[in-house]
Amino acid sequence: MEYDCAIIGGGPAGVTASIYACRAGMNVLSIEKLFEGGQLASIHAVENYPGLFGADGNDLIDKFVEHAGQYERETVNGEVLKIEKNEDVFAVYTENKSYAAKTVIIATGAKPRKLGAPGEEEFTGRGVSYCAVCDGAFYRNKATAIIGGGNTAAQDALYLSRICDKVYLIHRRDRLRAEKYFIELIEKNEGVEIIYDTVLEEIHGDKNVEGVRIKNVKTSEISQIKTDGVFIAAGIVPESGFVKGLLKLDESGFIITDECMRTNISGIYAAGDVRTTPLRQIVTACADGAVAANQARGYLDM
Ligand code: NAP
Repeated sequence: MEYDCAIIGGGPAGVTASIYACRAGMNVLSIEKLFEGGQLASIHAVENYPGLFGADGNDLIDKFVEHAGQYERETVNGEVLKIEKNEDVFAVYTENKSYAAKTVIIATGAKPRKLGAPGEEEFTGRGVSYCAVCDGAFYRNKATAIIGGGNTAAQDALYLSRICDKVYLIHRRDRLRAEKYFIELIEKNEGVEIIYDTVLEEIHGDKNVEGVRIKNVKTSEISQIKTDGVFIAAGIVPESGFVKGLLKLDESGFIITDECMRTNISGIYAAGDVRTTPLRQIVTACADGAVAANQARGYLDM
């Protein structure tokens, strides 16, 4: 079996690509590691996707997948480990199988960055988390600390403030990089205390997290905070390891594309958070997926 298009990744970019590819008459294989959803599944309230203010991320991706289900496509679970170009066909390898496709769209997204702080690894799952929506409920009426200053950290702070007695937002600089909209909400929120110019030194505890040691980078003052949970929201790293050596990546590992989602190899496209892009949003990921599918169709027609 030779597919017209293999789409790797099932977040907004991958699912949209599959909708557009199917509608363009391609025979499509969608490959997803676990279940379709991507980072969207961990968003509590989507407030900037037009027409759906406040939508739950899980509900939204369910709708995307249901929509994709209107078309005939094959979906498989598996982690793609390698792509090879064999003349005009690509071989896409998972752990135990390989698939042949004339075009490939990579929409594998990104995963949360680890800080490498002492205690981070040890307490992961016992107080350290990378997903407030997934794990926030464990901290009802407790104290939590969030590390980071971007949109994820800001959204986590707002989400956790509804559950926890106290939320510390610890950021290494004197200004958050999150959208102004979120910053204003946080500043008005009495349940969130922002601690600027401060880095995480250590996460400590016994069986579970009991607190963090932090350092003010301007004064070098060290202090301790009692907290039951630590949510790390320090950015993302692209899921692009499997194409290292095949595709051109930027210094952070994001796949370099042009505005048509073309990579340096004809027939391979990248869409969504995994590629170099000035804006990483659901709406831009969807748009990328649509453009990539349209370009793949054009490539097949050449
Ligand atoms: P991000 O925007 O890259 O922010 C990461 C934050 O973590 C930054 O504040 C950064 O500090 C901090 N950080 C990075 N490395 C650190 C370290 N080693 N120690 C301490 N702090 C560290 O990442 P994100 O918030 O996960 O968002 C990822 C992408 O998704 C962004 O493009 C974002 O806009 C998008 N997103 C959008 C929404 C939305 O629109 N609703 C929601 C979530 C995410 P500095 O500020 O000093 O660099």
